[in-house]
Amino acid sequence: MLIKNHNWSRRNFLKAAGAASVGSILTAFDLLTEASEGPKKVPTRPFGKAGINVSILAFGGSLDTSMSSLVLRQAFKWGVTYWDTANTYMGGKSEKGIGKYLEKYPEDRKQIFLVTKSNAWTLNGLSRDLDLSLERMRTDYIDLFFVHSVRSISDLDDETKEWADKKKAQGKIRFFGFSTHSNMEACMMGASKLGWIDGIMMRYNYRLMHTDEMKRAVEACTRAGIGLTAMKTQGGGQVNTDSDTELKLAGRFLQKGFTDAQAKLKAVWDNPDICCICSEMPNMTILMSNVAAALDKTKLSIRDMGLLRQYAQETRSHYCAGCADICESSIQGNVPVSDVMRCLMYARNYGNPQRAKTRFQKLPIITRRQMTLTDYSLAEQRCPQKMAIGKLMREAVKEFS
Ligand code: SF4
Repeated sequence: MLIKNHNWSRRNFLKAAGAASVGSILTAFDLLTEASEGPKKVPTRPFGKAGINVSILAFGGSLDTSMSSLVLRQAFKWGVTYWDTANTYMGGKSEKGIGKYLEKYPEDRKQIFLVTKSNAWTLNGLSRDLDLSLERMRTDYIDLFFVHSVRSISDLDDETKEWADKKKAQGKIRFFGFSTHSNMEACMMGASKLGWIDGIMMRYNYRLMHTDEMKRAVEACTRAGIGLTAMKTQGGGQVNTDSDTELKLAGRFLQKGFTDAQAKLKAVWDNPDICCICSEMPNMTILMSNVAAALDKTKLSIRDMGLLRQYAQETRSHYCAGCADICESSIQGNVPVSDVMRCLMYARNYGNPQRAKTRFQKLPIITRRQMTLTDYSLAEQRCPQKMAIGKLMREAVKEFS
């Protein structure tokens, strides 16, 4: 391998590359040097009581995967074999792209832990979506089937359990669970008492992981044998502040050989109860960076974790924690504050205004009108993140309508 035979030492390579980009270059270099012995594989962890291990990094497929077959192929080779999609992602192009991949590499199917989700709120709708997902992805079974974006555990009842049992008996799904972006902790606590939820994908990151509520919810799910997948692990990404802590953090992590984005992944993996991180990886650069973070055994120090928490505290008014019950019960009417905050995050922090608009425009016109007229003062008082809810709701209407 060309790079391996080069007589530069790693230290010289880093000097030549320049300190500003040390982290990403270092990780790419390390991975490439492994190539002649075959690629390393990311570690795995047991998935709840399912009796299987999954890769600790999942390919988040909220994109047109038909344009990403090279990334999918390389992800598979690096052992990123947990693949997550949903029937709504990119209007179905995500599932279809995976189907195209599986048609080309059918021998990979058994090694891939395939997850998809349905937004349907009726059992017939779930059945219809499941069959469509199977058809699109050209597979006979889904490893883990999620009801998408659950906000309250009461959304799942005995009939849902019967439906899941039936689909398992038919061999169409192996495991069943839900994803949650709002009221995550309460949903997780509720699920831990049900006894028939196999997996949950929830928002979880260095901003959310330290609260007593979240710690209790994670412990309860682990005791109940529920496999936990963390999403939104970058905590909103860059939140556009001039925080000195952010600069200090980035410099500190680069000196240690990794980027702040990689450090945020490490903070989540530090909890052994989290089975997997689901990350959207639209290109080889992000895939390589995430795989390198998964392979690297350097742990964050207590000081590193402390600085991340400090940064989270300093920038909290820029990050919605998803505790929708708090603000939405403090306003008149039916404004889905937490969901709108998520749209703002997609547009402002992820740089994806189209995704934000598509989501936002699914809100009924009457709700959008109500958003501009609602009094949010009590919600703002109660918001633990001290967000300027009223201002942000009005900005969302202006930007996305
Ligand atoms: S706006 Fe505040 S109270 Fe409402 S979900 Fe976000 S963080 Fe929680």
